[in-house]
Amino acid sequence: AYERVLEIHKQHLSPILTAYFPKPLLLHQGHKEWLFDYEGNRYLDFFSGIVTVSVGHCHPKVNAAAQKQLGRLWHTSTLFFHPPIHEFAEKLSALLPEPLKVIFLVNSGSEANDLAMLMARAHSKSTDIISFRGGYHGGSSSTLGLTNVGSFKTELSSGLGCQSTMCPDVFRGPWGGSHCRDSPVQTIRKCSCAPDCCQAKDQYIEQFKDTLNSSVAKSIAGFFAEPIQGVNGVVQYPKGFLKEAFELVRERGGLCIADEVQTGFGRLGSHFWGFQTHGILPDIVTMAKGIGNGFPMAAVVTTPEIANSLAKSVLHFNTFGGNPMACAIGSAVLEVIKEENLQENSQEVGTYMLQKFAELRDEFEIVGDVRGKGLMIGIEMVKDKMSRQPLPQEEVNEIHDNCKRMGLLIGKGGIFAQTFRIAPSMCITEPDVKFAVEVFRSALTQHRD
Ligand code: PMP
Repeated sequence: AYERVLEIHKQHLSPILTAYFPKPLLLHQGHKEWLFDYEGNRYLDFFSGIVTVSVGHCHPKVNAAAQKQLGRLWHTSTLFFHPPIHEFAEKLSALLPEPLKVIFLVNSGSEANDLAMLMARAHSKSTDIISFRGGYHGGSSSTLGLTNVGSFKTELSSGLGCQSTMCPDVFRGPWGGSHCRDSPVQTIRKCSCAPDCCQAKDQYIEQFKDTLNSSVAKSIAGFFAEPIQGVNGVVQYPKGFLKEAFELVRERGGLCIADEVQTGFGRLGSHFWGFQTHGILPDIVTMAKGIGNGFPMAAVVTTPEIANSLAKSVLHFNTFGGNPMACAIGSAVLEVIKEENLQENSQEVGTYMLQKFAELRDEFEIVGDVRGKGLMIGIEMVKDKMSRQPLPQEEVNEIHDNCKRMGLLIGKGGIFAQTFRIAPSMCITEPDVKFAVEVFRSALTQHRD
């Protein structure tokens, strides 16, 4: 039966949909942080979809809410009102600071960022939208203009005024061409803890200013930034950098958009939203993934003024956005995060996890960097610590596959797909972390020996 699945996949599914692992996993069940395949094997899911399953697979409370709504009403379009959307809107807006209180519901992160672009243009009356090198903001033809990570970057994007050439070539992250490339190992380690590294901030700000002055129109419509770059391999900005970047954009009339698709909903532990960890207040916040625990839904939250600017400029709707199923699920997810103290769990277990994985940096020459916050951790693999060259792809894949064989699923990211990404559901426990670290350590030992 497995061979048949592979055959159908090859014949009928786009070749662009590449699966992880030489022998792709055929999954049939999930329970909290665990996944089960058809051969009866159990895996600890430390990537939770792609940072999506926020409260755990098939959470009973979320399932119950979905089932209840399933028997009542699935769909109305945005032309009619229904209680789940109002319940959800009230719950979600309560989690955002003033004046971010107006919500527009859509179905994916790309759609959310598309809409945020439209809002920024409608409000600012400018067209140019900018983002960071290394940012991932979606796969639609307009958001691809903002996405600038490795092979995702393409000239095929048709984003008006947001071609990837407009992306400031400013921020590459601590290991991809930063200030401390030539420093000795100890300094590298210190600098790679980007949040504490003020030394880099001024340099990046100067570059950012140069880019704004040279390659971007005088007025900017909007600026997109992830609070931590996810797809790029969990890359953090130097402390204070994002705040100053926001100020520079605002001086040029641009709106600041926090892409919380990966960082929102308590994943970073110390705060519910990633932007709060930088002490900044965006004009627009986009969110997806964890919002529906894997159910397709997403949202754009903004101020009444910006929402009105869009309403005055264009007629806009979204057939499936804010459908009753999604909203019922979204409300249940928010309740679970609160009732089960999952943000606090992200903070506690995340701190422990970062510390445990960081120990491997001292044990193995190929572990170049371990970084992140809460339950969003990146482990950057290198040939050796001095050269800082990315570990060759075959070797990264072998470690990745060996983790899977031992029951641990993790993600990959970064320009050369050289960084392992760890972003489990927020319900994980310390014993889960111990298991994951031991499996990862064994995979590294196998590689070394
Ligand atoms: N923004 C960020 C930060 C993302 O990580 C992603 C998806 N990886 C998106 C936007 C796009 O979301 P989607 O795939 O749901 O369109």
